[in-house]
Amino acid sequence: MKWVGFMVLLLWGLSAYSQENEVSFEQIDSLTEQISHVKNKDDLAKELELLFERFILNTKTLNHNQSYVWGLELEALIEENKSLDIVQKIRQPFYSRMGWLFNTFGEYEMSIEYYQKSIDLAEETGNYESKYKDLGAVAFTHYLLGRNEEAESLLDQLMQEVTDLGNQELIAEIQYRYYTVWIDREPEKALGHARASLNTPNQRDYTHRLLCVGTCFDRLGAYDSALFYANKGLEIAQEKDFFTQKSNGHILLKNIYSGMGDFQKALENFEIYHSLHINSKSFRSGMMLMAINQKILEEKLELQESLAQEKLSNQRSLMWIFVISTLVLGVILFILYSRIKLINHQKKRIEEEKNRAEQSERYVEQFLTNISHEIRTPMHAISGMVNALLRNPDSEFKQEYLEVMRISSDNLLVLLNDMLDLAKIESGKIQIISEEIKPLQVATGVVNLLKFKASEKGLDLGIDVSEDFPETMVSDPARLTQVLINLIGNAIKFTDKGQIRLRLSRENDWARFEIVDSGMGIPAEKLQVIFDSFEQVDQVRTREYGGTGLGLSISKKLIELQGGRIWAESELGKGSTFIFELPIHSSLAEASNPNLKPHVDLKTLGEELAGIRILLVDDDEFNMMVVQDDLNYFIPELTITVAKNGEEALQLFEKEDFDLIFMDIHMPGMGGIAAAEKIRVLEAQNNAKKRIPIIALTANIVQSEINKFMASGMDDYIPKPYKVEEILLKMHHFYKQELGN
Ligand code: ADP
Repeated sequence: MKWVGFMVLLLWGLSAYSQENEVSFEQIDSLTEQISHVKNKDDLAKELELLFERFILNTKTLNHNQSYVWGLELEALIEENKSLDIVQKIRQPFYSRMGWLFNTFGEYEMSIEYYQKSIDLAEETGNYESKYKDLGAVAFTHYLLGRNEEAESLLDQLMQEVTDLGNQELIAEIQYRYYTVWIDREPEKALGHARASLNTPNQRDYTHRLLCVGTCFDRLGAYDSALFYANKGLEIAQEKDFFTQKSNGHILLKNIYSGMGDFQKALENFEIYHSLHINSKSFRSGMMLMAINQKILEEKLELQESLAQEKLSNQRSLMWIFVISTLVLGVILFILYSRIKLINHQKKRIEEEKNRAEQSERYVEQFLTNISHEIRTPMHAISGMVNALLRNPDSEFKQEYLEVMRISSDNLLVLLNDMLDLAKIESGKIQIISEEIKPLQVATGVVNLLKFKASEKGLDLGIDVSEDFPETMVSDPARLTQVLINLIGNAIKFTDKGQIRLRLSRENDWARFEIVDSGMGIPAEKLQVIFDSFEQVDQVRTREYGGTGLGLSISKKLIELQGGRIWAESELGKGSTFIFELPIHSSLAEASNPNLKPHVDLKTLGEELAGIRILLVDDDEFNMMVVQDDLNYFIPELTITVAKNGEEALQLFEKEDFDLIFMDIHMPGMGGIAAAEKIRVLEAQNNAKKRIPIIALTANIVQSEINKFMASGMDDYIPKPYKVEEILLKMHHFYKQELGN
């Protein structure tokens, strides 16, 4: 690259003197012809004139080898014939041109020698113009030889002289020479000289020097100004058809555009430059041509590569911009999408919560309506019958009245038990007792119990048992009974005619119970939900048939607690089938369901509690009686001390020793919670060795209330009405723990 720059500069440095337009080779050939003619005529003067003309013309091509040969031949003739007029005329320009020729070969010392001969002759003849031009060329050659100081001082001297002469054109000429020696080292300094060199009437020189100014700006990186001068120079060169200047102009534009990074335009200018030289026959042969061509092509390649690279990097940048913006867009869209999703999700949740709240509100409302109806109906019957009997104790319908009262109170009990069951199941307090049972026996018991109810409605109720139905299995007979009563009860309730069958079969390791009725059926969309608490098919049915919507949900839970499953199949108007399956465990060990509790022998349990001292705190005389009665029946040597409220309990606790306290919650005066708290405080104050177990005996089984009992220092609770085994088991649990301590 540097080399090419130098070559271009070299050509350029000298080109001020190669004032050629297109060189015509026909002209050279015709001159050669003329010379051979003249040779034959022995007209030496003419021959010299023609030889000189052909030599000068040939130097304007790049066929320097030929010029050199012809130059040396001519020199010999000139030296031999110094006295000839023609020689006097051509000697000085000939030597000057030889100086130039040697310069093109890089033979700088020789070049200076020839220039010197020219200068001496010019001085002799008073041809200042030639003298100073050649001296300028010498100064430039010193510079090319690396003799910068010599070059500069020579130029200084020349400047002094031409200034003294007052010749503006020569001053501009020397300024141009200054430019040539400074451009590579200090373009800023060169710029001043290039500008000053513009002061010439010679159009070609002027054009050439405009490009020099452009070159200075290009080197300084001031591309706008560089473009201005380059285009201005090129414009004149094209107009006047100055070949070298056109060529120089395009090469300068190529440099400027390269510097600006516009490789497309750089390459365009380079191609024009190249085609100019290819088209002109000035590159005809010779080393220089080849060298220049090679370097030109190399540079062209380099340009193409940087252009391609530029394109590639542009494409890459575009690709990256695309990728990054796609990513950014993707991220933004994703964030937006997530936010919208989140908002929608939250909206949906809020909506669901709202619906649920509304639904449960409806449930509660409906439940209260149902339950009050369910309570009112038997209560109404009971109080009506009681009043009737009070009015007429010897009524002939006494027996029927009593029967109605019994049925009504039974119904009330069922309702109460249902609610308690549900509450127990919900709070996880339900206990499943597992014992070996005869399922057919249990089922028959239920069918017999309900047969009467079915026949009242004209329904046929019966059992179908398959052969493989297990004879025995491990289950909770009470819970199985409860579920069967519930399902068969429903079947009777919702069937007006036809029959109800209880089908018992075996399905692998499952005992299957199917309750088939020919009733009204259940719509498909309700088949699932009826197993949820308080769910009923419709209000019309409820009004007509009563019920609370608890039975199926309790049944489902009781079956699932035993590791079983339940579902319903139905066809509207044709009937329903409720199916449940229980795992057949033939031994207790096999029935490892954690919900299943081994069956307890109450007698043994009671005996193990012998001698236990109980403090029973309750304000209700009847409750006290029931508890005392139950416990006394099972536990030998039992001591029960009773207290009617918290205060009494505290006094007794301080005075006497007890193994366990049963504590009612709601009592007049100090309630159970306050009493339990005080007892724990007293224990702490007295540094009591043991912590007395306190068990709440309460009808209040709402979870938040239970939490309050436990927080007050109680150890457990038993819901009222209780089952004896439950109370005994709990007592046993705490008493054994205490004895262990
Ligand atoms: P309840 O019977 O007290 O309303 P359940 O939970 O036992 O509550 O039953 C829920 C609902 O399922 C009933 O209200 C009724 O609409 C429907 N259902 C239950 N069993 C049957 C049946 N055998 N035939 C038709 N509908 C039934």
